[in-house]
Amino acid sequence: MAGVVLVTGGSGYIAGFTIRQLIEQGWTVRATIRSLNREAEVRDWLNVANDRLSFFAADLTSDAGWAEAMTACHHVVHMASPVPLHNVKDENEVIIPARDGALRALRFARDAGVTRLVMTSSVAAIFHGRAKGKDTFTEADWTDVTAAGVSAYAKSKTIAERAARDWVAAEGGSLEFVTVNPGLVLGPLLGTDFSPSLEVVKRVLEGAYPALPDLGLNLVDVRDVADLHVRALSAPDISGERFMAVAPHGFLRLIEIAAILRERLPAHAGKVPKRRMPNWVMRIVALFDPAVRQLVGELGKVRRAEPTHAMEKLGWRPRPAADSVVDTAKSLIAMGVSKV
Ligand code: NAP
Repeated sequence: MAGVVLVTGGSGYIAGFTIRQLIEQGWTVRATIRSLNREAEVRDWLNVANDRLSFFAADLTSDAGWAEAMTACHHVVHMASPVPLHNVKDENEVIIPARDGALRALRFARDAGVTRLVMTSSVAAIFHGRAKGKDTFTEADWTDVTAAGVSAYAKSKTIAERAARDWVAAEGGSLEFVTVNPGLVLGPLLGTDFSPSLEVVKRVLEGAYPALPDLGLNLVDVRDVADLHVRALSAPDISGERFMAVAPHGFLRLIEIAAILRERLPAHAGKVPKRRMPNWVMRIVALFDPAVRQLVGELGKVRRAEPTHAMEKLGWRPRPAADSVVDTAKSLIAMGVSKV
């Protein structure tokens, strides 16, 4: 199946791979970016057939440009959302554009006669603020935004997804709605201006810390996340569903990521730390460093999730997380970002 699809946030990392796959599969792609001043740069790194890709200016915080971008679209992938590298001072800087932007995309999609909108949510809308001892998660779980220590980003993704689902139920009419909820997205770089999610591998590879905190993440490859979005656009009978995009057994601790790099890229792993940082050291550092303070609540947490639903329902076959770790490192080295 192929048609005309709008991808919001066309300058983003996951959007880049999604746009490439959509064009390869015959779709005509319209993409929003905040300013058309960036069109040439984005076209350059996408490097796809120009005659099937057009750009429109639209911001999550304003109605301007959305109606024009949606014209003649049958499908929408709504990916644009703030992805802050650091915790922000005022959480509303992230929450409001995420929520209002999702509602704006939905409203303009319905009014344009779009048949299905696939929204990029996150495991951040699933994993956080849950009772101690819960370490396995499925699509049925939701982050509790009222719990202490939930980040502005996790709140933004949860509130935006919930608001979108409520709006679709009340006002969506025949518009179909699906979410893809990725874990931490790794994979090859699109350009030297790379996604914050790749920082984890970069810092381990470059030995940014003498020892590694006891932190674990659910990983997934950007090429597989793009593939899951493309599948979710056209699979029958999935309206209202939620698909976690995580690699099989893809929950890896930083110390495991380090071991993969040492084993599979030995020539570049000289700076990769070998030791785990004791949690009490992290707690002391947290007294002085707000960035570390944010992580203390995450120490030792296990959050297992499997891609069973997307594999069974959509035939999705994500690659092993270890391969994505290696491909991320190789790409950081090849692009000259990490000199190791
Ligand atoms: P990214 O490269 O930072 O992309 C985010 C996109 O959103 C960019 O195109 C950005 O535009 C756009 N955006 C942000 N604020 C906007 C605003 N006010 N108006 C219009 N556009 C705005 O990050 P990504 O990793 O590809 O993320 C894409 C989506 O995947 C997001 O919804 C994110 O929450 C979700 N996600 C990412 C991960 C991950 O690990 N990377 C995991 C789970 C979910 P500019 O380029 O102009 O800033």
